[in-house]
Formats: sequence, structure tokens, C-alpha cells
Amino acid sequence: MMATRRVSVASIKTTCCIVGGGPAGMMLGFLLARAGVPVIVLEKHPDFLRDFRGDTVHPSTLEMMYELGLLDEFLKLPHSVVRQISMQIGDDRVVIGHFDRLPVHCKYVALMPQWDFLNFLADHGKRYQTFDLRMRAEAIDLIEEKGRIAGLRAWTPDGELEIRADLVVGCDGRHSIIREKAGLKSDGYGAPMDVMWFRLSRKPSDSDENFGHIEGGRMMVMLNRNDYWQCAYVIPKGTADEVKRAGLDKFRRTVGEMSPFTRDRLDEIDSWEKVKLLTVAIDRLRQWYRPGLLCIGDAAHAMSPIGGVGINLAVQDAVAAANILARPLRDGTVRVETLNDVQRRREFPTRFTQRLQMLLQNNIISPALAGNRPKAPFFMKLLQWPLLRRIPGRVLALGIRPEHIHTPEIA
Ligand SMILES: Cc1cc2nc3c(=O)[nH]c(=O)nc-3n(C[C@H](O)[C@H](O)[C@H](O)COP(=O)(O)OP(=O)(O)OC[C@H]3O[C@@H](n4cnc5c(N)ncnc54)[C@H](O)[C@@H]3O)c2cc1C
Repeated sequence: MMATRRVSVASIKTTCCIVGGGPAGMMLGFLLARAGVPVIVLEKHPDFLRDFRGDTVHPSTLEMMYELGLLDEFLKLPHSVVRQISMQIGDDRVVIGHFDRLPVHCKYVALMPQWDFLNFLADHGKRYQTFDLRMRAEAIDLIEEKGRIAGLRAWTPDGELEIRADLVVGCDGRHSIIREKAGLKSDGYGAPMDVMWFRLSRKPSDSDENFGHIEGGRMMVMLNRNDYWQCAYVIPKGTADEVKRAGLDKFRRTVGEMSPFTRDRLDEIDSWEKVKLLTVAIDRLRQWYRPGLLCIGDAAHAMSPIGGVGINLAVQDAVAAANILARPLRDGTVRVETLNDVQRRREFPTRFTQRLQMLLQNNIISPALAGNRPKAPFFMKLLQWPLLRRIPGRVLALGIRPEHIHTPEIA
């Protein structure tokens, strides 16, 4: 007789289950736990040490650290500082962001490895009994009962786990399984480019500046990370295989032509393993929620890397969501109207920022990648005028609707 093996599925209950330990999920988990809401955060990776995912901590996020009383400690983490961002577009050099007049404590963007930022939030979250961060825990499906999301199923090192929750929040990024399983519909807005990311060492004699360079159908951005350059080589959408087929030698030559000072160290790119592809997408969910479920961050709206605002928006979504949800979660009174309040609060800034990214894509990146001699558009030149030049810096640094911490510390 054949023995039947019973697979037992452990089941636990919490108030809020957050899927994804990126900037949105970790910030939301930390703030809700701090406000006395029992939270489980699931992260499928064993740690936060991932490939380059964007290292920009904007002035608005730094201001939140100040509001939380954590700024001094946060700034002890290794970081570099960007006070101004400029770009060479053909013959025109335009300043895209001046941060010197911002009404915040840190008038700069901090470049900090994302894992340091996430570990910082994890360490502070662990101070609260209400915070339960589970690494190597991957959400695989939602539990739906009578049209309402009642929890989810996840793979963990101990086997399958069922988590029942009053609210599931999908913070699982641009390839969100949560939004897919929930059947939430998104609109894609297209992007003309993909980005190949890699590092080159930085020498003391190199410039300090972060800069972008568009020339002859090619585009390169270099971010100063103290001892290395984080480099973004922008290619027309879907051409990564073509670039790879042309070979590493050709790739290195192109990089050297775009940034001649790197020619003495191009052999550091000794395999394609060192070059990571970002498939650029801009999309947005039509509705960010269903009864019992909400999506925020990239899971609700994938951003273009233009302006490096994805982390900033994800964090601001999390702060707005915590402000709106903390009390109803504690009282057990979260309704679809409450979830709609989160979307209403964050949809306009998202929509506006994506429009701006598309404007820049269409006016600068598409023509440049098509090989046309790039020219700074008139509106960009206008924004160099002293009275107007604070505007792009402010939008870039603080976002369209800066959020502030209103959740109390209760736990
Ligand atoms: C190569 C690259 C460079 C970028 N550069 C910048 C930049 O310079 N500045 C900037 O602001 N933005 C940048 N971005 C975008 C930025 O990283 C995102 O906008 C931001 O991280 C979104 O945060 P998030 O928390 O919504 O999602 P993510 O950061 O994508 O986090 C999602 C998390 O969910 C986890 N996860 C996914 N599925 C599951 C599951 N089923 N179960 C459990 N966990 C799951 C993932 O492992 C991940 O940790 C870049 C993105 C990439 C890919």
C-alpha cells in the first residue's frame, strides 16, 4: 500500500502583511509597527544586498528621517552628496537641479547603497514588537474569500505558510505578483530606452561632478560614488542583445568615447556579468486596491529612471499610506474608501512625475537615441533663468506632493 504524505501548511494571523522589502515595503512596515500596528513584511531574498537598484536618497526622504529623529544616525552611514545635477545635451550644458535653496535640513541628494538604507529601516523596525520581518519568504498567491483578499500564501525556508491579514499591501516592485494575482489592470506608457548599469573605479584626479552626456545617438550618465562611478549606458529599447553581440571590446570602446577619462580602467568591465540590464517601463495601475488589498511603490506605478525618483516616490507612497491607514488598521476599520484615500493622495504626484518623465523621454532621449544632434529643449533653457531655476530642483528633490510623518510612535 502506498503511504500518503500529508503536507501541513502552517497558518498565522496578523493585521497587515506587506509583500516586498524594498523602499516602499520597509518604510511602510517600519512606520506601521512604530504606530502600534502588528505587521509582517515578507522579502523573498535572504538579504538586501542586491544588484544596483538605485542609490538616491532624496532631500524629502532625508527630511522624513529628521522628522523621525533619526537623521544624525542615518547620515553616519557611508554616503556621498550631490548638490547640483547638470547635463551636457549636444552643445548645451544645462543644470537640471539646484538644491541649495530647498526648505529642508539636507539641501542635497545622498547617494547611499540601497541595502544600507533598507538595513537601517530593518534595524529600527526590530525595536518594535509589532514588527516581524521575514527574509527568504516569497508570496506566491492570494487568499480570497467572498470577494475580499483575506491573506496570502508564501514559501518560506520552513515550507509553505498561510498568512491571514486584515490588509495585504503589495510592495513587490515592478513585476509584482500581488497585482497580477489580484487582477489589477495597469496602463503602460512606453519607454524608448533600456539602461545598462556598470561600475568603474574612481580616481582622486577625476571630476567630483555627477553628469550625463548625450552625443551621436548615445547617452551615458555617471554618478560619483566616492571610490567608484556608477555608470548608466542608455540604449534604444530592446537592443541589449545587439549590444552584447557586438562584443565587450566594442562596448568598452564606446564607453571610452563617451567618457574619455575612463579609458585607463575600461578593462574592469571584463565580462557581461558586470553589466546589469534595466528594462525601462512606465506604467500605472488604474485602481491600486481591492477589498483587503492595496498596492504602492513600483507595484502600483513603475517609474522611468529619469530623475532617479523611483525610490523617492515609493517612500512617499509608504508615508502617505501609513498616515492614512495606521489608525483604521489599529481600530479594525479599514474600508475600500480608506484604500481609495491612499490612491487619491498619491495618484496625482505619480501621474505628474510620469508625464514629466515622458516629456523628457520624447524631447531629449528619443531624438538623441535616433542619432539626431541633441539640443536642450526651449523649456529647459528657460528653466536656467535665475528666477525659475529653483523649480526643477524642488520638483526633483521634494516631489510634487511632499509627505510628512504624521504617524505617532505608540509601540
Ligand atoms: C537597475 C535599477 C536602477 C535604478 N536606479 C534608480 C535610481 O537611481 N534612483 C531611484 O530613485 N530609483 C531607481 N530605480 C528604481 C527604484 O529602484 C524603484 O523605483 C524603487 O526601488 C521602488 O521601490 P519599491 O519598494 O516599490 O520596489 P522594489 O525596490 O522593486 O522592491 C520590491 C521588493 O519586493 C521583493 N519581492 C518581489 N516579489 C516578491 C514576492 N513575491 N515575495 C516577497 N518579496 C518579493 C523584491 O525582492 C524587492 O526587494 C532603479 C531601478 C533599477 C532596477
